[in-house]
This record gives sequence, structure tokens and C-alpha cells, in this order.
Amino acid sequence: MMAVPRCDADLAGVIWAKTSKEAPIMPTPMSEGADYDLAIVGGGFLGLNTALHGARLGLKVGLFEGGTVGSGASGRNGGIAPPHYPGALRPSDVSAVLGRRKGEALAEIVTTGGRFIFDQIRELGIDCDAEQNGWIQPAHSPKALAKVRAVYDDWKAHGAEVEWVDADYLRSELGAAGYLGGWRHPTGGALNPLANCRGLARAAQKAGAAIHERAPVTAIARDGDGITLTAGGMRCRARKAFLATNGYTDGLWPGLAGTIIPLRLFQTFTEPLPEAMRESILPSRQCFTDIRKSGGFCRWDSAGRIMSGCVHFALGDGHARGVRHTRMRLMELYPQLADAKLEFYWEGYCALRPDFIPNFQILDKDIYALIGFSTRAVCLGQTMGKVAAEFLAERRDLDDIPLSVSTLDPVPRQAFRRMGTRVIYPYFRALDRWGLT
Ligand SMILES: Cc1cc2nc3c(=O)[nH]c(=O)nc-3n(C[C@H](O)[C@H](O)[C@H](O)COP(=O)(O)OP(=O)(O)OC[C@H]3O[C@@H](n4cnc5c(N)ncnc54)[C@H](O)[C@@H]3O)c2cc1C
Repeated sequence: MMAVPRCDADLAGVIWAKTSKEAPIMPTPMSEGADYDLAIVGGGFLGLNTALHGARLGLKVGLFEGGTVGSGASGRNGGIAPPHYPGALRPSDVSAVLGRRKGEALAEIVTTGGRFIFDQIRELGIDCDAEQNGWIQPAHSPKALAKVRAVYDDWKAHGAEVEWVDADYLRSELGAAGYLGGWRHPTGGALNPLANCRGLARAAQKAGAAIHERAPVTAIARDGDGITLTAGGMRCRARKAFLATNGYTDGLWPGLAGTIIPLRLFQTFTEPLPEAMRESILPSRQCFTDIRKSGGFCRWDSAGRIMSGCVHFALGDGHARGVRHTRMRLMELYPQLADAKLEFYWEGYCALRPDFIPNFQILDKDIYALIGFSTRAVCLGQTMGKVAAEFLAERRDLDDIPLSVSTLDPVPRQAFRRMGTRVIYPYFRALDRWGLT
């Protein structure tokens, strides 16, 4: 039995904890016997947006986070906000899974996700170094060019605000070697995700939600008309409960951890680069994510550092291998970074579903979970938080949640797949090297 991922509440080694301009929140004190309309488990992008919008819709909300706000994946991701699905997944692929009505509704939420989150950041005055300069999906091989073009055509057919860009544009705007063409979403961008989470928590508290930190929920059960939770050793009651635990899903609800495949990723940042070098890399401060399986993405932080990362490899010294991978990838993209020191390395877990689309699970009467955000939740986790809040506040029907809705939905051969993600890196790397992705 593999251990359930735990998050480090202090985010040791994570750049965003060092550079966040939003201070840690003052958590709401817990009180024995508190009674909520809605109890939320998990203080990442999904849980925080559900809390904010639920409170705005009049619910008495209590959010319980085992670590600190954003200490799961939401405060330790790359902070790239792509208004798109993972990789080469197209809106029509998603419609084939969800059906046309839900597929089109989800496509609309995904492609407007950049507008939603950056507008919300501005509205709430969140100081998270948000830069809405556009996000690009470039093609690193002829095979990738065909896939990326198909993704672009599909989004265009859905009326999305996307632009095709050629190799010359990519050479000048990314400054990176080897890209053949791609597409751009002008409303994407990058931000400090931990600062974004802290700002959301502050706004949720202002709207009336109680945000409890270092309050792991250890039991949850239906009890007469309502639900009883034990959190941080105290018992409280709720009318409804919503589990937003994604890659950090533990044994709280039996079987829920078996409905996702946790994926361990690492991120790195260089030291701040000299001014002269900054002009040759992402000169207009756009960011990009290609469709290499072994991670091809880059962005600036606010102090002139460059990011990279990939899937963690579990055999041997994973950290050392991650550093080697970063050096190799940065050298491929930006040979001028040969001597740049790596200042930050950290890891975190996201959660995959077999179809790469999160799903909404009904665990019991009035107890729900929404997990499986893959490597895309800076936008989608936030927009889905609002959707979930509308449903939980009875302003939206279950049938209007644009995801598959099921009872507990285990991933077939989950243990095998989970093991696979831990040792997949060399295979991914080889596919990329041979131009097969
Ligand atoms: C290294 C890395 C890089 C990534 N980069 C990007 C990126 O650049 N762009 C992008 O869009 N996406 C990215 N992702 C994916 C994205 O970060 C996640 O999909 C997203 O943050 C999930 O949000 P969430 O709110 O659902 O879950 P999380 O943020 O993981 O929050 C779940 C929370 O639940 C809490 N919890 C679990 N069990 C309990 C319990 N029993 N009681 C109380 N609390 C509990 C955990 O402590 C955790 O804080 C990345 C992920 C990782 C790991």
C-alpha cells in the first residue's frame, strides 16, 4: 500500500512562500459544536473559490485545511494559467466523453477561465504578481505540429479567442529554439499561486466564511438530518459537505483516493538572471506549455528567474535527476542558461483521471467530491469552485455541472497506474527525444 501524499504546511523550498506579497492569513479559530450550511475539506484553488462564492451566495461556510491555505498543489504549482485542457486534449474530445451539451458548457468555462481568474484577482485586489500577457502552446516536433494545429482548429470552431502563430513569431516571442508553430490564448498568463490562494482566503473570510488551518478532517459521516465532521480534534455539524482534496486525497472517505491517480511533479527556478539575458528570453513576458511528455514550459517570476519542471522519477535520487532534467531542458530551449544556477527545487502532487477531466462524485446524501484536475487548475480549479458553490447553494442543478457526475468512481487498475506514474519519466523522455510526441 503506497502512502497518501501529505503536504508540508510551511511550503519549505517553494519559491512562492519566499516571494508572496500576500501575507499568510489569520485563520479563523475553531469552536467545538460549530454548525455550518457547508463544510469544505481542502484549502486549494477549488475549496477556496467554493468558500468565497458559497459565502457570497449566503451560505454559512466552514473550510477545513489540514495544512495551511495553498499548501497542497495550489500554492506549489508553476502558476501558469492556460485557458485550455491538458496537452493536446481538444474540446471535441471532451464532448465525446461528456456529451455535447456538457462538453460545450465546459469548453466555454475553460476558454474564458483566464478572464475569470485575472478579473477576480483585480476585483479582490489580490497582490499575486499576476501578468495576463498571454499563454502559448508551441509545437516542438512535426508530430506535435499536427496535434497542436488540430487543437487550435477545434478551439477556433468553438469560437474561442485563439490565434495561430508561426515559427518566426515563436522564435522572437519565446526566444526558444526549435518550435515549428503553435497557438496563443491572449487571456492566459502567470501569477504567484500561493499569493493568489492567500488573497482568495482573505476575501472568503471577508465574505463571512470561516477558514480553519492545520485542521485535518479525520472523520465525516451522515448523522440524522445533517453531517458530523471531526476536524483538528473538534466536532462540528454541517448541512452539506464538499471534498476538494485532489492529489492530497487521504483515507477520509473510504475509496475516494482510489478514484484518482496521484502524480508527483517537481518545479525548479533559476537564480535571477542578468538584465541583458532577460531580453533574449520571453521578451514580452508571455508564458508557454508545449506538449512534450517530459515537460516543456517556461515563465518568468517577478524577479527575473526562469521556471522549469517535470514528472518526478521515483527510482534512485529523484531530486538529482530532476535537477539534471532541468539543466537538459533549459539547455535545449535556452543555451544561454548553461551557467545559470538553480535556486529553487520543490515537489507536489496533482491528480489524474483516466480521461484527464475532473469528475464530480456523490459520496452520500449531501456529501460531494470534485477531484482529478490533472495539471490544469490555476484556471479550471477556480472556475469550478464557483460552479460548485452555485450547485451547493441550490442556484444550479446537478445536471448543469459540466462534468461527469457519478457515485464513487474508482480508476480501474489504480495501483498499477499509480506505480506507473512513478517510473514513467525515462519512457516519456525517450518518446520526446524520438519525436513521437
Ligand atoms: C508541481 C506542480 C505544478 C503544477 N503546475 C500547474 C500550472 O502551472 N498550471 C496549472 O493550471 N496547474 C498546475 N498544476 C496543477 C494544479 O496545481 C492542481 O491541479 C490544483 O492546484 C488542484 O487544486 P485543488 O484545490 O483541487 O487541490 P489542492 O490545491 O491540492 O488542495 C487540496 C488540499 O486538501 C487538503 N486536504 C487533503 N485531505 C485533507 C483532510 N482530510 N482534511 C483537511 N484538508 C485536507 C490538502 O492539505 C490540500 O491543501 C501543478 C501541480 C503541481 C503539483
